[in-house]
Amino acid sequence: MPQKLLKSAHYIELGSYQYWPVLVPRGIRLYTYEQIPVFLKENPYITDGYRAHLPSKLCLKSIFVLSNETVNIWSHLLGFLLFFLLGVNDMATVLPLSGASGEDYVIYSVGLFCFQVCMLCSVGYHLFCCHRSEKTCRRWLALDYAGISVGILGCYVPGVFYAFYCDSFWRQVYLVSVLALILAVFSAQVHPHYLSQQWKLLRSALFCSVAGYGVLPACHWVWLNGGFGADIVQVFFPRVMVMYLIAASAFVFYITKIPERYFPGQLNYLGASHQVWHVLVVLMFYWWHQTAVYIMNYRHKNPCPGHATRG
Ligand SMILES: [Zn+2]
Repeated sequence: MPQKLLKSAHYIELGSYQYWPVLVPRGIRLYTYEQIPVFLKENPYITDGYRAHLPSKLCLKSIFVLSNETVNIWSHLLGFLLFFLLGVNDMATVLPLSGASGEDYVIYSVGLFCFQVCMLCSVGYHLFCCHRSEKTCRRWLALDYAGISVGILGCYVPGVFYAFYCDSFWRQVYLVSVLALILAVFSAQVHPHYLSQQWKLLRSALFCSVAGYGVLPACHWVWLNGGFGADIVQVFFPRVMVMYLIAASAFVFYITKIPERYFPGQLNYLGASHQVWHVLVVLMFYWWHQTAVYIMNYRHKNPCPGHATRG
């Protein structure tokens, strides 16, 4: 290709938003929904602002380009930073002040590490979904789904650990079964057929079973503690309910594509359902982390019956 043509092929365009005062690296332009490759056509209500056909280096550079993925990328990048800093704060202040044991440190490290992995997988997908190779895009999508499972594992581990603090048998049963379940889902998620249209129903079913599995230990925990009238249940059950409420609303936004389905083309850059889902996921993990701190302090102040030395 002659030099002049090559230059014009790299000409920078910004879709219909060419007047936005952003510095755009050479070779990155934005496309409308009609212009993007079929594998990127997930949401017809987002009509413009797509990145596409990019090599890895430009995918990375596009982090600074205002596109319809900007909020998705940065919300979970900031989420990663949040859980990293929470981890530093826990290790330096919260856990020492609470008189934490070695086990507490391990549980907090595992939980926050899972949240951070989830955030980074998501950032990776939203950065590289515009890759020129469909295979690369699909691989990152699989990793994004797997990251959600890891994030859910990060919720289960401290939840089960502190709920069954005084019952090591059931604590082990639930920790092992949750780990087995997540591992099974994880292997399904890296299966080549996982992202196919035929597995769409199975994908939702697996996701719901992973999220819904928590109902079993939660009910068992209420029963073991003497029902809804018990003090500890009254303190912590509402917190578990709030957690499920955030998770359920996040899921509803995710699958229904509300609100952009009612305002097609108007929420391309801000306010789309996937962005709401991202923010709710960060909020949910944060809420659960604060709940873990709360219940840990409670456990340290109220030793298990018959184990007065514990904590
Ligand atoms: Zn996402």
